[in-house]
Amino acid sequence: MEKLTMEKLTNYCKQYGFIYPGSEIYGGFANTWDYGPLGSRLINNIKDCWRKRFVAQRRNSYEIDCGILMNPKVWEASGHTKSFSDPQVDCKECKKRYRADKLISNFTTDINPDLMTYEEMGKFINENIPCPNCGKRNFTDIREFDLMFKTYRGTVNDQKLEIYLRPETCQGEYINFQNVLRSQREKLPFTIAQVGKSFRNEVTPGNFLFRTIEFEQMELQTFCKPGNDEEIFNYNKKESMKFLTDLGINKNNLRFKDHDKLVFYASAATDIQYLYPTGWDELWGIHNRTNYDLTQHSKFSGKDLSYRDPETNEKYIPYILETAVGVGRLMLAFLIDALQEEQLEDKTTREVLKLHPALAPFKVAILPLIKKVHSEKAKEIYEKYSNYFMCTFDEASTIGKRYRRQDAIGTPYCITIDDNTLKNNTVTIRDRDTMKQITMDIDKVPYYIIEKTLF
Ligand code: ATP
Repeated sequence: MEKLTMEKLTNYCKQYGFIYPGSEIYGGFANTWDYGPLGSRLINNIKDCWRKRFVAQRRNSYEIDCGILMNPKVWEASGHTKSFSDPQVDCKECKKRYRADKLISNFTTDINPDLMTYEEMGKFINENIPCPNCGKRNFTDIREFDLMFKTYRGTVNDQKLEIYLRPETCQGEYINFQNVLRSQREKLPFTIAQVGKSFRNEVTPGNFLFRTIEFEQMELQTFCKPGNDEEIFNYNKKESMKFLTDLGINKNNLRFKDHDKLVFYASAATDIQYLYPTGWDELWGIHNRTNYDLTQHSKFSGKDLSYRDPETNEKYIPYILETAVGVGRLMLAFLIDALQEEQLEDKTTREVLKLHPALAPFKVAILPLIKKVHSEKAKEIYEKYSNYFMCTFDEASTIGKRYRRQDAIGTPYCITIDDNTLKNNTVTIRDRDTMKQITMDIDKVPYYIIEKTLF
């Protein structure tokens, strides 16, 4: 297949109903996207697999669902109101805006902007880097760009309270630490999970789903005794990587990248990077946040969030180990990795989306061979199988074209209804990847498919 570009993927996603540009009929709204019928299925399947692996299959992991709007003191305690910003620089000639650190890292890998001050970055840019858009070298000084979206609560103008759309989901888990601990009668270590929307007024959003201003995160926060943190950090690294490879991402497209410069409160931080068409970049963050978060929330709320060990009677502020991944960014990686163009024996090609069956928007396509003859029976089968898993139904055009469409949207199994179905109560099951067909009794199919599409 020719090299997959973000543009090609964007067109593919729109054509088949995975993702549409946001507010399209109004000329769009930059870097916002709407999930179509297939994208919504895919995104829900990604979340279901994550929940199964990291919540359902762990005895001490609890999912919560917190508000997007919180008391603004939360963001004071977390440090966001003071320092959640990125370095922004503008080209004075063509007015294009850049994130200074990204401008440097895209220009050279010889130096690391994470280790530079804003002054050093500004000097380096002005001395070395031409504007990637217009080629001139005339940049503004670096300015801090506030990433928090603000809004107001209240009706009377001068009494309005300034509040924020959350820029990350994890603060909800931290402020509910004691609620979960007590209501679930837990002891350390245990994990709070959350899947939810976050908002960031990014300096340079873009690259399709990679960096958007509204996005969903899936996060795990494990609370533990200081001293057990390193072991859990390493476990999180291993398990996050395993999740990705178990769901079919080629391991050559994944790597760990330790942070060169840690935020002051963290004691370790690693990203899992993915090889996007634009190059290696972050997919999943894994952090050791020490006892910073609960210390801060204790201080700002006045509530003691320390933990007393029921066995040793020791009292301490728990450490927090975090894993955080963007659902859209993960969907992007799954799509890039799965979309292939295959050369067939008869010299034709087919576009095939080799998603893990558990992720596929539809598990099964029900295809009557001849509309007039087999559709009635096919509809009956569709109704029956829909009780077990997501099915799609297609009776238009030739069977070959219908197989191709299902290949392109990743449906792992096509079930053809033909004369044998009417006579013998059997159907033909075609496998997306091998294109081999088998015949099976109608009633046995649901168990076969459930088994084959399990994660
Ligand atoms: P980046 O360095 O790419 O800005 P980050 O280090 O700020 O990301 P975290 O705050 O650790 O990211 O967020 C955890 C995860 O959330 C990231 O690994 C990524 O998958 C996702 N994420 C963060 N920002 C965005 C965004 N603007 N759009 C889409 N996903 C995002």
